[in-house]
Amino acid sequence: MTQPEPVPFSGVPADIAPVRLPRSGLVFERRARRFVDLASGHSAGDWLTALGHLCEAQALAVGSVVPRSPSGGVRPLYPETWRNEADWVPALQTILESVKGISLPQPAREAIASLEKSRPETVVAFGQCILGRDGAPPAAAAAPFVAAALQACWTMAAGKLDTPTLVVDGSDCPVCGFPPIAGCIGGDDKVRYLCCSLCASEWHLPRVQCGMCRSAARLSYLQIEGDPKGIKAETCDSCRTYLKLFYKEALPAAEPEADDAASLALDLLVAEKGLSKAGSNLLVTPMW
Ligand SMILES: [Zn+2]
Ligand SMILES: [Zn+2]
Repeated sequence: MTQPEPVPFSGVPADIAPVRLPRSGLVFERRARRFVDLASGHSAGDWLTALGHLCEAQALAVGSVVPRSPSGGVRPLYPETWRNEADWVPALQTILESVKGISLPQPAREAIASLEKSRPETVVAFGQCILGRDGAPPAAAAAPFVAAALQACWTMAAGKLDTPTLVVDGSDCPVCGFPPIAGCIGGDDKVRYLCCSLCASEWHLPRVQCGMCRSAARLSYLQIEGDPKGIKAETCDSCRTYLKLFYKEALPAAEPEADDAASLALDLLVAEKGLSKAGSNLLVTPMW
């Protein structure tokens, strides 16, 4: 169903931070709790619970990551210039060890066994495929584990940057260049931040404009009738993309990655209209 977007809050404070960097350990602990909360009573509860455990493993893994210095340039953690296999491959081992004892779908268990047997160069190539966003990874069921290690490493490094050096000048993350998972609208100030799918950094984007092409001309807002209030897809007919939005006023505990995974029905609704998702959720795979 299509609804008009509420009138933008007119009193946006002048001191809005353009970028909010992640607190790495807390990101994954909070994400894990949110996955577990959302799993209760959800038709895909087992899957959401499994993703919650994967986030717990990420919280463990960030403790072992000592990120190397960022590269120079506008996007200091841009994957093509900030190479760090020496960090994320060990983080992957920590994650695999941690999740082996939990209940996972069969394809996921097979993917863990396969990753553990893989040669290091194969694992690195897998990670580069995800980082390069150049097509589907070679084994979809293994992708969430590799992506989890990449997220742990990039989030840890992002949390150590200085915000004054970062520039919000496009549709992608000012830290690493990845697209957003989703946007969150603050409960009190109604300010919108988009959340990076790789490094969990957040950047400010004024409301009622497309996150991709910045046009406000052909926006619509879709939501599923009967779904919890506070979840909408902002669709843009100018560039034919959409971005999911979570409104903290209605969903104070909303967390972009977990709430995105728990609201895939909205993605299906928008996909029927032929629009592409602006970003991606690296933990979501059709394989498990
Ligand atoms: Zn990022
Ligand atoms: Zn657009």
